Amino acid sequence: MTAPILPDFSAWLEEGAAALDAADTEGWHGVEFDKDGVPYVHASSVSGCPRKFVLQASGAISEGNPVASVMNFALGNTIHTLFENTLKVLPQREGWSVLTVEQGLTHSKMALKGRADAILISPSSEYVLCDWKSEAATSKTMREKQYADRVRPEHKLQCTAGALLAEDAELVSDRIETGMICYVSRQLGKNVWDFESIPFEITEALRAEVVDCVTNRVEAWNKYRDTNELPPALAKVFQYGKLAVPWMCNPRSAIDRRGKFCEFRTACAAHMGGVEL
Ligand code: SF4
Repeated sequence: MTAPILPDFSAWLEEGAAALDAADTEGWHGVEFDKDGVPYVHASSVSGCPRKFVLQASGAISEGNPVASVMNFALGNTIHTLFENTLKVLPQREGWSVLTVEQGLTHSKMALKGRADAILISPSSEYVLCDWKSEAATSKTMREKQYADRVRPEHKLQCTAGALLAEDAELVSDRIETGMICYVSRQLGKNVWDFESIPFEITEALRAEVVDCVTNRVEAWNKYRDTNELPPALAKVFQYGKLAVPWMCNPRSAIDRRGKFCEFRTACAAHMGGVEL
C-alpha cells in the first residue's frame, strides 16, 4: 500500500491563525485610531516595542506567529475563558465579589484602550484589579529567579493601565490601589497546576510610567506620520558576556529569519535602523 499523504496540521494551524488575524480588522487587538488619526495603545502592550507599535499602525505586513506561539495563545485564551465564565457564574466567594469581568474601555484623555480581566472587591472592601497569566513551567522558574516580588514588570504596567482606564470610566468610586496577577502554570510532565495570586501596590511611579509609555508611542506615531521615520530598534543587551539583540527580536531560526516573537521583524529590518535579517 502506498503511504497516504498526510496533512501538515502544524503548518495548517500557523497559516490559519495568520488568516484569522488578517480577517479580524475590527478585533479588540486590531489597530484602532482616534478621531485625530492616532492609533490607540492597548493596555496589554504599553511596555512593548515602540517601533513595532508604529509598524503595525502603519499597516506593515505581518509575518504571523510560529505555531508554538499560536498554541500558547490558544491555551491562554482557553484559560482566560474558564476564569471569565467562573467569575460570571460564581460572582461571590469567601468575601470576594466581582465588579467587572473583561470589560473593554477607552480612556477619555489619552490614546489608551484595554480590557482588564477583572476588577474584584476584597473582603476588606478594597478594589483589586486582577489579571490572569498562564505560563510554562520554565517561564515560572525564570520569573521567580528574576524578580524579587515574582511579578513581571510588564504585567504590573498592564494592570496599572487597567486601573487608569477603570478610574477614568468611573467604574470605581475610589482609586484602585492594588493590582494582582494570578499566575497559572502546569508542572513539568504532570497534570498538576499551580495557581499563585500575587498582589502589588499600584504606585504613582507605575501610573506615571503608563502615561509616559502611551505618550512616547503617540509621539513616535506622529513623527512617523510627519517624516516617515520609525523609532529605533530595541537596543542590544548583554547576554553571556556579549552584546545581542533582545529576545523579543529573535528570528525563528538560523535559516528562517522571520520573527519568533515579533511578527513585524522583516518589516523592521527593511527600514533604516532596524534589526539585521
Ligand atoms: S524586531 Fe525587535 S526592534 Fe524590530 S519591531 Fe520587532 S521587537 Fe521592535
